[in-house]
Amino acid sequence: MAPKTWTVKELITVTSDYLKNKEIDSPRLTAEILLAHQLKITRIKLYLNYDQPLDDKEISGYRSFIRRRVNREPFQHITGTQEFWSMDFTVGPHVLIPRSESELLVEQVISLSKENEFRRKGGETILDLGTGSGVLAVSLARELEGAILWASDISDEALEIARLNAKNHGVDERIHFRLGDLWEPFVGQSLKFDVIVTNPPYIASEAFDALSPEVRDHEPRVALDGGKGGMLCIERIIRDGTEYLNPGGWLLIEMDPEQTTEALSLMDENGQYREKRRIRDYAHQYRFVVARKTGTAHNKKHEEGKP
Ligand code: GLN
Repeated sequence: MAPKTWTVKELITVTSDYLKNKEIDSPRLTAEILLAHQLKITRIKLYLNYDQPLDDKEISGYRSFIRRRVNREPFQHITGTQEFWSMDFTVGPHVLIPRSESELLVEQVISLSKENEFRRKGGETILDLGTGSGVLAVSLARELEGAILWASDISDEALEIARLNAKNHGVDERIHFRLGDLWEPFVGQSLKFDVIVTNPPYIASEAFDALSPEVRDHEPRVALDGGKGGMLCIERIIRDGTEYLNPGGWLLIEMDPEQTTEALSLMDENGQYREKRRIRDYAHQYRFVVARKTGTAHNKKHEEGKP
């Protein structure tokens, strides 16, 4: 008997069932994404080639992707990409896989810029602290043409990926990359920013083991673990942030909803923040804390004497 030939359609059906049995999230979508990756076509193209038979090499390549996913490797590590802000970003084990809620940080910064809240002559200066794959810095560089971007990370490997992503999206010349732990690269540099945006590690160390295997075993712990209670980085960011902000400059931090009240009180105690507020994510949870440094920004609106 001739060996069975599999069509795209059959393979997707069988694989979705298999992934479902293995309790993998979004089984059908996963089956499709990985098959499209194996065939080097888009997911939509799969539907146009539903009855196409696959050859042995394609089948065995696909099988190995499925095996990896069943071993709880995130599909983004298998395809090597994640979409963010409608752009494809290279990702891997050295960077956090960008989450869609972080797009709200990009949105917030853009709207602050539109309100002309911090724009200075020659463009606003924005720091993406802990840039990881570079999604925030790259998206902002693409959206805000006059902005001067800085992006830092503690991980050399992460910075390399961020640089690659900046290059792929044509903004590598516009972003200054710096290696170091939080504020370390900026100590004694007399650099001040109009906006500091950050998605720091904020998971409590004690909660780490309970994370899904996809996150716990495959994503970089240094990008996730925020120490005891998960507040270590957030505390340092709030404590020293005012040193690196221009008067009236904005700080935007992503965190766990349960950390937002504490973050606001830390800002109160600090005394150098005003207009403190929390912003909700798509799941309607407080996910971001936003505040300005005291003092007034010398923004364009005022300089030009407009009302
Ligand atoms: N800034 C990156 C992101 O938003 C990385 C964040 C991190 O590694 N903690 O995805």
